[in-house]
Amino acid sequence: MTINAFSLEPTGLELRFRKTALVAREWLTPSYVRVRLQGGDLQGFASLGADDHIRVFFPDGNPDSIQELRAAPSREYTPLSWGDDWLELEFAIHGDPAAGTAGVAAAWAATAPLGVIAGIGGPRGSRVLTGRPDAWVLAGDETAVPAIRRFAQAMDAAAVGRIVVEVTNASHELAIEAPGGVVVEYVHRGYAAGGTALAGRLDALTAADRPEGSVFGFIAAEQSIVKPGRSLLLERWGLGADQIIVKGYWKGGETEYHAPH
Ligand SMILES: Cc1cc2nc3c(=O)[nH]c(=O)nc-3n(C[C@H](O)[C@H](O)[C@H](O)COP(=O)(O)OP(=O)(O)OC[C@H]3O[C@@H](n4cnc5c(N)ncnc54)[C@H](O)[C@@H]3O)c2cc1C
Repeated sequence: MTINAFSLEPTGLELRFRKTALVAREWLTPSYVRVRLQGGDLQGFASLGADDHIRVFFPDGNPDSIQELRAAPSREYTPLSWGDDWLELEFAIHGDPAAGTAGVAAAWAATAPLGVIAGIGGPRGSRVLTGRPDAWVLAGDETAVPAIRRFAQAMDAAAVGRIVVEVTNASHELAIEAPGGVVVEYVHRGYAAGGTALAGRLDALTAADRPEGSVFGFIAAEQSIVKPGRSLLLERWGLGADQIIVKGYWKGGETEYHAPH
């Protein structure tokens, strides 16, 4: 029997709501922006799992109460990095914020004036990767890049594996820092629907491409990635369901998609 070199341990955190302000914005590509939120409420913020998510609330003005803050539109995002009183997030910008075709969150991240209030709730539950995978396979579109960055940061210098990121084209590629033994590759969707280029790449990986040993797999992108992601990791590579995280992070044509948790 193979003994897994790692496990994904469920861990709960107390759900808290915090009020923050948008203090900085940095464009990493023409359609991807890193934002910094700041505020005393962030003291004690913790995110234990690399694929954790928080709910970000986008109120009009400055709500007086947590109830008012929670009534604002909200979407799910991955905490990228944080300190005593700050938190950074990265947003994939889709649609055209100027033309009103972007979602609430994308338009906010692209255009909200510095100083506006944002609420955050969570993270509530985490899966914490404990132990050391023999190899890593991480794949996703822009929405999964913050989680991929966090997994890559958790790797040690001798880690091996593969990271595949789907973006529009070469000018939208996002640099991912990873140890030398981890190959980082990009696939371009061009004008095709989100997830199609990544699905094609995953479909092209065969049993012979399976790294040896206990492999950890994380795949997240448009919801249609779930089927090809599971086919690769579970069927062709024979990984256990407890070794993988495969998830739809958004769904074409659906506002505020709620992924099954
Ligand atoms: C666990 C988890 C973690 C996530 N972490 C991040 C993160 O760190 N960064 C990040 O950018 N996203 C992340 N997402 C995805 C994000 O929550 C969704 O993309 C969200 O729907 C965006 O909200 P919106 O208001 O911009 O668009 P919505 O109002 O929700 O949707 C409006 C329209 O835009 C489409 N749409 C939504 N997202 C995209 C997209 N990425 N590309 C193209 N069309 C889209 C929808 O299908 C819909 O037609 C995460 C999702 C989950 C479940």
